[in-house]
Amino acid sequence: MRFCVKCGKDVEKTMGGLCTDCYLDGRKFTALPHHVDLDVCAVCGEYYLDRKWVPSGKRKAAEDAAVEQLGVLNGGRVKFVETFSEEQDPRIYVVKVISELTVQDVEVESEASTIVRIKNTVCKRCSRVQGSYYESILQVRSEERAVDEDTVVNIVNMVMSYVDQQSKVNRQYFVSKVEKMHGGVDFYLSSISLGRTIAKMVSDKYSGENKESAKLVGRTDDGQDMYRITYLVRLPEFKVGDVVIFNGKHYKLARVFSTGGRLLSLKDFKEVTLRRSDMPTLKVYRKRSELKDATVVSGGYPEVQVMDPLNFSTVELMVPEGAMIGETVKVTDIDGVLYYVP
Ligand SMILES: [Zn+2]
Ligand SMILES: [Zn+2]
Repeated sequence: MRFCVKCGKDVEKTMGGLCTDCYLDGRKFTALPHHVDLDVCAVCGEYYLDRKWVPSGKRKAAEDAAVEQLGVLNGGRVKFVETFSEEQDPRIYVVKVISELTVQDVEVESEASTIVRIKNTVCKRCSRVQGSYYESILQVRSEERAVDEDTVVNIVNMVMSYVDQQSKVNRQYFVSKVEKMHGGVDFYLSSISLGRTIAKMVSDKYSGENKESAKLVGRTDDGQDMYRITYLVRLPEFKVGDVVIFNGKHYKLARVFSTGGRLLSLKDFKEVTLRRSDMPTLKVYRKRSELKDATVVSGGYPEVQVMDPLNFSTVELMVPEGAMIGETVKVTDIDGVLYYVP
């Protein structure tokens, strides 16, 4: 048994020599500074809370900023806080924070208040966007003279939607500039890792070749060398749907994926799987857009009769099982013989 040095009561345990009542009496368990400054980005409207820029409502941000500064005193443990705020003018809120705490095993309530002052600034990201900041460049070029317009549009859409999606997770990701250059397209990107990821994405999708080069552009604040990386993705001449030559035989290029591709033989419609390292050996024989249409005269699986678009004679073509034969079919001639291209 102990006793309280203040009131003399016998108690089982004391805190600093006092009984619980005497210990709690008049003691503060939470405190707030006189005022709290809260930064808001004048461009994107996000608030700087908990050392991050986050979207928030103004009142909620003011209340969160106050709670962030809440100090806990005299051995209390906060279990729950409730906030009340009053807008004094559009930039100033008086925020009261009522906390429920446990002190030893006793539950207590404590109240503290502060003035939150909202200050306009520009977040790091917005200042970088405004300054067209970039750390890497992705250049997409082609083995041919120019990347065709459809492919440019597809790549721009792919890159923009990827960055848009990633920027929700990492605010530092953005595209500073997109420029059509030298028959291809250039992307100026806010980070090196973004450039690397997108270069891989584009080269995987089109089975392109990837090169990178670094250029020293200065030093960081802490004295490290700062590089700007250029990623060059060279797109191959072939595209899905083209007739290509592989190991001296003719195929339709059926698919391209990150680890290689798939070919379909024009002679027996058997499939061949390619490794990524095989891809550069493919030669385009006929582009999909150059394939001729032949009018179907009659027939179905396994053969159709078509009119040869070159000499108007009727010829028979082998077709694979399940081929959808319409009024015309795509054909190509190889060594004077006509073949069906699925
Ligand atoms: Zn006491
Ligand atoms: Zn901003």
